[in-house]
Amino acid sequence: MLAGRKYRAYMEDGQKEYADTIGSVCRSVWNTALEQRRAYRRRGAYINYREQAHELAEAKQEFPWLRDVPGHCLQQALMDLDKACRTHGTWKVRWRGKGGRHSWAPAFRFPEGKTIRVERIGRKWGRARLPKIGWVKFRWSRSLGGAVRSATLKRDGRHWWISFLVETGEPEKTVSLERGRVGIDRGVVQAVATSEGRFFDRAFLTEGERRRLLRLERQRARRMLGSKRREACKAQIAAIRRRERDRRRDFCAQTAAAVVSGNALVVLEALNTRNMTSSAKGTTKEPRRNVAQKRGLNRAILAKGWHALELAVRNKARSTGTAVITVNPAYTSLTCPKPGCGHVHTDNRESQAKFLCTTCGHREHADIVGAKNTLARGHSGHRAWRPRGCPVDEAPTSGNP
Ligand SMILES: [Zn+2]
Repeated sequence: MLAGRKYRAYMEDGQKEYADTIGSVCRSVWNTALEQRRAYRRRGAYINYREQAHELAEAKQEFPWLRDVPGHCLQQALMDLDKACRTHGTWKVRWRGKGGRHSWAPAFRFPEGKTIRVERIGRKWGRARLPKIGWVKFRWSRSLGGAVRSATLKRDGRHWWISFLVETGEPEKTVSLERGRVGIDRGVVQAVATSEGRFFDRAFLTEGERRRLLRLERQRARRMLGSKRREACKAQIAAIRRRERDRRRDFCAQTAAAVVSGNALVVLEALNTRNMTSSAKGTTKEPRRNVAQKRGLNRAILAKGWHALELAVRNKARSTGTAVITVNPAYTSLTCPKPGCGHVHTDNRESQAKFLCTTCGHREHADIVGAKNTLARGHSGHRAWRPRGCPVDEAPTSGNP
């Protein structure tokens, strides 16, 4: 099974400088290649990876600065671009900017696992030898547990990270020995509710951090574009944002582990967060309505990391053999979960948290009702539902509100 391992890298100053250089060369290769692809598309033609790699080799003869960086990293950048263009289309792939809106943090991959040597040099330290960069020291915060397939260096703010793709040698499980089944409801107030009645939630910023962030953002607005003071302010904001991101990732991983363990099946509502959050301008009809509500909901959805949670669940499920399916979420929180009732009506929902069936009087937390109905749909072999490209407002399967 392939797995990722990420460590904090501690490079020497010269190495850091060189790594930044590799990053910017990769960036300019990406941008040049993307511009070339777009130019071809404008004429109704295509250019593929193979041709671009060939042109890169020719460009190396002409521009010596291209020869100063590891060639594999540049090829990898072209390969990543090729994949991005095939997945998202040439016009949707973004430029990699130095700063500003499309600012891109330097990251590059060494795809040849055979050329990378990893050693442990102490209880807390390891080092990896990368082509042209040399030995890179890193904090041995967890075991490697497999043969290295590739290595990636990435800068996040001031710090560099090295991550390895490793082949653990364990087979990827396809069937779980467990018997449990669980439905998951992702919400805005409580991040996660399960059909077993458990809740998972966490604040990713403390009250103090939130206040500080607000103050810094106001400060940034006052400071002059391109000034040193503005850059310093931006770095402070980025540090808080990074902490928030790390905590969210941690929360998703821990919740995923808790949800997946002991279960053979996890059922999630299919959420098209991109569609849900794209209408930040409110309803599409003029005059636009619900702008503020929509914007608030969008922020909440993105802040809770719904998509990240699904990825974490799917990732964890690879090691336990748990099946993960998504079902149509329409009306899951408005349907009575009591066997034999199944009444669907908007009046069933007393408030955000309270569910009270208007027919049978069944009372429960609305998020748990959502999770139970989600699980039931997974049971009944409800058509597995993939989010991308599917309309969110599909007709309900039973009854109309
Ligand atoms: Zn009922």
